[in-house]
Amino acid sequence: MIDIAPDFNYFPSRPRQRYYTLLLFFSSMRQKLMDILACPVCKFHPLELKIEKKEGDEIVEGTITCPKCNIDYPIRERIPNMLPPDMR
Ligand SMILES: [Zn+2]
Repeated sequence: MIDIAPDFNYFPSRPRQRYYTLLLFFSSMRQKLMDILACPVCKFHPLELKIEKKEGDEIVEGTITCPKCNIDYPIRERIPNMLPPDMR
């Protein structure tokens, strides 16, 4: 897992958001990642995690949900898609 600074304070800019998405792409989804994930739309933290399939400490399939704006971010093949819906 790639260590992301805890003060990685969300998404002030598009380039940073892309960088963040890229980081997530190269780090497989683990429960621990929930500590640093915030909603890319409303910046809410913490997000809710629903696990559908797990292997060891890796979440293979599941959904990350923002309880504030009610947007689902899917986890497929261990990779969380944290792009806002309008960028997918
Ligand atoms: Zn949100």
